Amino acid sequence: MEQYETMIVGGGPAGLSAALHLAWHNRKVLVIDRKTGPLLFTLEKLYNVPGLPEMSGPQIIKLLSQQAKARGAEITIGNVVEASGSIGNFTLKGEKGEEWRAQTLLLATGVARYHPLVNGDFVPCFKYAGKGNLFYCPDCEAPEIVGKDTIVIGAASSSGASGLALGLSRYTSKLRVLLTQDKELDPQRKEKLVSKGITVLTGEIEDLVGEGRHLKALELKDGTTLEAEAFFVSSRVFGRTDLAQQLGVELAVTEVHAQPKSQRGDTNVPGVWIAGDLRPMTQQVAVAMGTGNIAAIMIDQHLRKEEISKN
Ligand SMILES: Cc1cc2nc3c(=O)[nH]c(=O)nc-3n(C[C@H](O)[C@H](O)[C@H](O)COP(=O)(O)OP(=O)(O)OC[C@H]3O[C@@H](n4cnc5c(N)ncnc54)[C@H](O)[C@@H]3O)c2cc1C
Repeated sequence: MEQYETMIVGGGPAGLSAALHLAWHNRKVLVIDRKTGPLLFTLEKLYNVPGLPEMSGPQIIKLLSQQAKARGAEITIGNVVEASGSIGNFTLKGEKGEEWRAQTLLLATGVARYHPLVNGDFVPCFKYAGKGNLFYCPDCEAPEIVGKDTIVIGAASSSGASGLALGLSRYTSKLRVLLTQDKELDPQRKEKLVSKGITVLTGEIEDLVGEGRHLKALELKDGTTLEAEAFFVSSRVFGRTDLAQQLGVELAVTEVHAQPKSQRGDTNVPGVWIAGDLRPMTQQVAVAMGTGNIAAIMIDQHLRKEEISKN
């Protein structure tokens, strides 16, 4: 079986940026990805990725993959279900019985994002998420709603949804909040929303009305139809921490992300680094690339020190 110097689980911007650095330094590096990353489904243009203006998610992934491969990184498709071992000798197992080995490991498995329920099902949102005017991340997408009549869909806590709406009031004055799950709102918070002209509604979504990839309205179970120019989701986001947990990587206090020991992405488990959305930071391509790059530099330096100590 081939032995790699580094295995990277996750071929999003974090994993691919890390692979580029390691391959450039002539490290034998393998990226294993199951092709479920959000960018593969994000057809809207991304405006905030430095050096890659107005590209779609698939275009960004294609360029990053090509660049890493051109320097010698190997990229394979696989769903890693098991991670074990310790520094110098890690083993990953895929769902089809594949097995991979390496001295060091970078986990860049990203996050799972909850969508609003539409008649009890989250799948209808896939048609619009990242494709037009259904937004999820204020750090990435808030500027998309400037001056637009916007509904914030509260798909988790009312405090989260109302906080998002208050933050978005910097971008548009035409805001409504629809609480679909937690419908109780702190009276002081409600007063604040009202003072900003933000209407608070409650209800459950029965159907999405759209044209192509453009969402036009929400049909509620009580028969109301809410039309808007843009929609912003407030929902929960969880790090894909299953492999990190198997290896004993510490989780953040909230237990939804893997916790690095430092900004360098090293963890409490020697030989295991983490990068990208998996870390408890914001979700953004440039941040994923940056944390992937830092982790890769640290991994390369670690391997170099090992070589020096052996020779
Ligand atoms: C709708 C939407 C719109 C967005 N718009 C923007 C934007 O405009 N600007 C911006 O900067 N950011 C945007 N983002 C956020 C951006 O996509 C993420 O921050 C970025 O992709 C994170 O990169 P990552 O490499 O950490 O993780 P990901 O891109 O999530 O990649 C993780 C990879 O790991 C793989 N994986 C996970 N577990 C396993 C496993 N067990 N085995 C094998 N492979 C595995 C997945 O297939 C995936 O490819 C958006 C996100 C969404 C959902």
